[in-house]
Parts: sequence; C-alpha cells; structure tokens
Amino acid sequence: VQKIVVHNGLVYTPTGPLEHAWILIEDGVITAIGQGQHPACDTVIDAQQLALIPGFIDLHVHGAAGCDTMQATPQALYTMANYFAKFGVTSFLAATITESAELTRAAVQNIAACVGPIPGGARLLGAYLEGPYINVQAKGAHTLEHIRPASKEEYIPLLETGVIKQITIAPEIPENIHLIKECAAYNCMPVIGHCMADYEQAHYAIALGMHQATHTFNAMSGMHHRAPGTTGAVLTNDAVTCELIADNVHVHPAMLKLAVRAKGADKIVLVTDAEIGTGLTPGFYDFGRCQRHIESSGVYLPNKTLAGSVLTMNKALYNCMQATGLSLADAWPMSSYNAARQLGLEHKKGKIAVGYDADVVIFDASTASIAMTIGEGVILYTNSDLPFFMKEFHERTSNATCSK
Ligand SMILES: [Zn+2]
Repeated sequence: VQKIVVHNGLVYTPTGPLEHAWILIEDGVITAIGQGQHPACDTVIDAQQLALIPGFIDLHVHGAAGCDTMQATPQALYTMANYFAKFGVTSFLAATITESAELTRAAVQNIAACVGPIPGGARLLGAYLEGPYINVQAKGAHTLEHIRPASKEEYIPLLETGVIKQITIAPEIPENIHLIKECAAYNCMPVIGHCMADYEQAHYAIALGMHQATHTFNAMSGMHHRAPGTTGAVLTNDAVTCELIADNVHVHPAMLKLAVRAKGADKIVLVTDAEIGTGLTPGFYDFGRCQRHIESSGVYLPNKTLAGSVLTMNKALYNCMQATGLSLADAWPMSSYNAARQLGLEHKKGKIAVGYDADVVIFDASTASIAMTIGEGVILYTNSDLPFFMKEFHERTSNATCSK
C-alpha cells in the first residue's frame, strides 16, 4: 500500500479548518485525518501551514494551451488535463461547443474513449454538451449555422455513450422540451442557458429538472425588475445551482456578490469556461477550425465577441472570495464539493474526509497560488516557484520512514 502523509497544513474539513493538521493517503484514498504527530509513511509532504482544500472540479471547460474538446483527439484531452492540474484541478468535464453533428459525435466518442484518470493530469469525468440545442439570440461565441433544435435521431445515440453528464439547453425552443425530460434516464443534467426564456418559461424548465444554470448572467435573458427573465428565475429558484465565470470580465464582481448572496455559497459552482486559447501568450492565433484574439482579459473571436476566459480555477476561487468577502472556509465548496454534488459524486469527491478520494490542493489563499496538486493520491503538480516548499518536500521525502 502506497502511503503518503501531508502534514503541517491548515486542513479544510467539512466542519471547519483544522490547524497543524495532517491527512493520511493510502492507495489514493484519505484514510485518516488528525492534528499533531502524524503516522510514519513512505512519503511525507510538509504543507508549510498552507491550506489543504479539496481538488478543484471544473464542470465547464472547453480547452486550454492550444487544445480543445472539438479536436477530438486523446492528445488534446491529455494536454488539457495536464494544464488544469497545474491550477489545482483534479477532475473536469470536457465541454463541446456548437458544431456539426459529425464533429459533435467525434468529440463525444473521443471523450468516451478517454474518460477516467489521465496520466499526470486531472481525471476526465465525462462530457458537457454546450450546444447545439441553444437559442440563436443567445449564441454568445457559438456558430450560428450549427445551432439547431434537438432531434432524437441525433441526441439519443449521444446520450447512449453514457459520458454526457450535462447539456446546456434553451428551454423556450419547443423541440428541446423532450430532450430536457429525457436527460434523467441517462443520468445527465439538463442545464438552462444560452437561452431567451422568460421567467415563466424558465420556471417551467426548472420544474422539468433543469437544476443548473450555464454561466449565470452570460448568454441568457437578463434581469429587469418587471421581467426577471432566466437570470431572475435561476437566482431565485432554490432548485437551481448557478455556474459562475468569476474572472471579473464575464461577470462584474458586484454581480458575483449578488449571485452568491441570492443563492448561498452552496448553490454556486465556479467554472472557468476556458477554451483553446487559454494559457497562450496574448496575440492573434489561427487554430484552423477557429481564429482567436487572446488578450490578458479573455479570449475573443475576430469580431471581438468574448469567446471564453483566460481563467483558472485557483483564480476563480480567489476572485470570488475577493468579491464576496467570504472566508476560504465558506468559499471552498464553490470550487469542488458543489460540482461533485451536481454530478452525483458527493459520496467520494469534493471533501477532505475519511473515505474520500485523495483529491487535494495545497493552496495559498492570499495569493491564489497552488503549491501542490494531488489527484487520487498521485502528485500531479508541484510549484517550483516555491523553492522553500520544494526543499522541504525533497528533504522530508528522502528521510521518510517506510512503514510498509
Ligand atoms: Zn457558453
């Protein structure tokens, strides 16, 4: 049994932070948590009194570092998984974008082939279908020509792959109602978004099972005091958990605060909506299938439409804490546990607790930096910009006692 202990940490458990605490990891699972003297182990990691929080789960992310889900190659997903791990992500859904039936099928089949742990990277939990069943009037960066009403001939084979966990659907399109009702049978969450549904239509859709909102505020009918729209419906209906892109560009910090106050931190899921250009140096890029202007604020189409964020999950959590004034103890579930719950994985992911997968981030909440990412007991990333941390890590590792 491979044993790892991470000690000298501020461990954020579901009941609150534990100081000078340690967690014991055996075969990828957290088997004990304590304070003070830790058990002897093969590998001993000194957390330098930094925070230990659950590994981030990014539900809504299209790509990064020049790769995306639509490339439909294992290499693209591996590149993404490895990039995300550097920012504390230990599992994610790979999101598609509105495309032809052929490309959508290829992307979903590729995800089906790669789903599971990815060497050196975050675990691929499945697919998030964003489009094509959306409203042309709320298309955002999606391609107009491929937006279409849902048809059984197309979506049943996609759902039958079993890897589609979430689908963004515009519920005001009559042909889409059947799909919304069908999702539950495939263990898939219909997500309301890229839509112009009015308040009543949105409420009806929520009653049909749309218990999540796609990047709340962005690409949905807005909130007016006499016409609350989809935005007003998802912010006030307790059945809905709201995704937020907390990059301060897609959503103003005041609106982040408004959303967290309206919903409570337990009904917010922070997502990056990062895409192919995320992580690249600013400039113009031609990726073949698409062109992008990458700026420090975000990723843009050639016509300057915002196409995605340059956000990473560590920054999302940090920005949300800054906007709301919430402490890490109150904020961390927005970056992990709530997403696990939305996926039905709350019994094994999203908490630092005995019996849970050892998905752990050593996080400096004052700077948003990641010191280390551990996914299912495997060290996925160590921050070499923290030399003191690294030195301690190597010393402790080489002196480690083996208790096999
Ligand atoms: Zn979108």
